[in-house]
Amino acid sequence: MINFVGAGPGATDLITVRGQKLVTEADVVIYAGSLVNPELLTLTKEDCDIYNSANMTLEEVIAVMEKAEAEEKMTVRLHTGDPSLYGAIREQIDLLEAKEIPFKVTPGVSSFCGVAAALNAEYTLPDVSQTVIITRMEGRTPVPDKEEMSLLASHQATMAIFLSTGLLDSLKSRLLVGGYSEETPAAIVYKATWPEEKVFRCTVGTLPETAKNNNITKTAMIVVGGFLGNNYERSKLYDPTFTHEFREASKK
Ligand code: SAH
Repeated sequence: MINFVGAGPGATDLITVRGQKLVTEADVVIYAGSLVNPELLTLTKEDCDIYNSANMTLEEVIAVMEKAEAEEKMTVRLHTGDPSLYGAIREQIDLLEAKEIPFKVTPGVSSFCGVAAALNAEYTLPDVSQTVIITRMEGRTPVPDKEEMSLLASHQATMAIFLSTGLLDSLKSRLLVGGYSEETPAAIVYKATWPEEKVFRCTVGTLPETAKNNNITKTAMIVVGGFLGNNYERSKLYDPTFTHEFREASKK
């Protein structure tokens, strides 16, 4: 059995209870390089075989899984955050299905949630944005033309931008083309929930220099939007004058 497990954003106690149990039971762990906290690997059984997938190909990863399966061992494939985001799990799943190897996915806390926590922020403020766009700049991995950054920015929704810390000059100009202003609030969060977490609040205009001045080149998330500002409407859900399924409005 192969278990894809989300390791969470960094802090070792932000893996799920189910994910942690699977890690402690695994005979083989294949973890996704530097973004998985190595302390999680200390939870494994003494004779657990541990592989770092950073220096492996897809075929090598599958070969390790196939061998473990033949030996009736349980494998945990440990991905950072939640495996469904930039985790390259689909290609593994398709090969496992072709080989009729059983697998299951255990979700994790994605880093964009860890980033919101680090900022004490709510991504979905009434009247500000009710939408979170999760995206990235095009690097060696292509991004479809219809999802070009300025097109996404034109919605003025909350944006959580992964995998783009090295591309902040072009990110800034694409955001401006899309309709954000130099003053739109933004933040760079480095290693959210890790002991070395760093939070830099800035604006769209100052994104590149903020990263440069603080030597942030990777393992960071960029978030952009009015949710980082101070203007928003109160929610209806907790408004005393608003009746809903579970609560009557107060009469006065
Ligand atoms: N599946 C992961 C994302 C993997 S892509 C998830 O759900 O979070 C790797 C990118 O995620 C990094 O380049 C960075 O942009 C972001 N990232 C991962 N961990 C992070 C953290 N602790 N703090 C800030 N950004 C993080």
